[in-house]
Amino acid sequence: MKNKRGVVMGVANDASIAWAITEALHKEGAEIAFTYPNDAIHKRITALAETLQPESLILKCDVSQQDDIPNAFRQIKEQWGSIDFVLHAIAFSDRHQLTGRYINTTRENFLNSMNVSCFSLTEICKEASAIMPNGGAILALTYLGANRVIPHYNVMGVAKAALESSVRYLAADLGPQNIRVNAISSGTIRTAASSGIGDFHYIMNWNKNNSPLRRNVSVEEVGKSGLYMLSDLSSAVTGDVHYVDCGYNIIGMKAVDAPDIVIEK
Ligand code: NAD
Repeated sequence: MKNKRGVVMGVANDASIAWAITEALHKEGAEIAFTYPNDAIHKRITALAETLQPESLILKCDVSQQDDIPNAFRQIKEQWGSIDFVLHAIAFSDRHQLTGRYINTTRENFLNSMNVSCFSLTEICKEASAIMPNGGAILALTYLGANRVIPHYNVMGVAKAALESSVRYLAADLGPQNIRVNAISSGTIRTAASSGIGDFHYIMNWNKNNSPLRRNVSVEEVGKSGLYMLSDLSSAVTGDVHYVDCGYNIIGMKAVDAPDIVIEK
C-alpha cells in the first residue's frame, strides 16, 4: 500500500472493524484520511489517528446529511488530488427495532436505515470514483443477515441485502474505470454498532458452536481481509461478497427450528 491514499469512513473507536482495517492498511504503508459524523466521534478519531500518522486529514461526513458526502470528497480532492481506496464501514438503525419482530419496523426507521446503511455507498462511489483517475478499490461491510433470517437483525438485514446488490451494480458501473467494488461479510464482532442488536451474545455463541472453525472471527482477521480487498492482491476481484466468518455461511443458520444445534445461552 506504499504511495496509496484512501478514505476510511466508519471508525467510532478502537473496537471498530474500520479501525482494524485501518491498522492493517497503515502497516503496509497506506496514507489514510478519516471521516466522522459528529463531534464525539471526531474527538475519538483525532486521538486514534495521532497514534498512526501525524496530522491526518479528518473530515466531517454525516452520510444522512444532503451535502456532507460531496463536501468531504471535494475537500479530499483539494488536499490530495486523487485517492486509491475507500472503506465504507457505516450502518445505523434505531436499536429499539433491532429486537423482536421485523414486521414492526416503522416507515421512518426503514427509510433512515436504508439511507445511512445502503444509499450512502452509492453516493460515496459516485464522489470517490471522480477522484480515482488511476482506478481504485471500494469496500463495504455486510453481514449474513442479508441472506438468512438472523433473529433481531430485522431491517438491517434488508438494508444489507440492498447493500450487497448495490455492490454488484456499482462494480458493473465502475469496472470500465478499473475501480473495484466489493463487500466483506464479517462474522459477529463486539463493537458499538453490534451492541445495539438484541440477543447479540446468543448469536455470537451460536456462531462459535456451529461454524466449521468452531470459533468467532477476530477483528484482526477482518482487518487482514480488508487489506486484501483494498490492495492489488485482489486486483481481479469485483462485485464480490467475501465471507470472513469462520464458515457459518456454509452451514446456514436455522433461526427457528434447530434441534440438532448446540446452543449456549
Ligand atoms: P461501529 O459502531 O464501530 O461502526 C459503525 C460506524 O457507523 C460508526 O463509526 C458510526 O459513526 C458510523 N455511522 C453511523 N451513522 C452514520 C452516519 N449517519 N454518517 C456517518 N457515519 C455513521 O461498528 P462496526 O461493527 O465496526 O460496524 C462497521 C460495519 O461493519 C457496519 O456496516 C456493520 O453493519 C458491519 N458489520 C458488523 C459486524 C459486527 O458483528 N460488528 C458484522 C458484520 C458487519
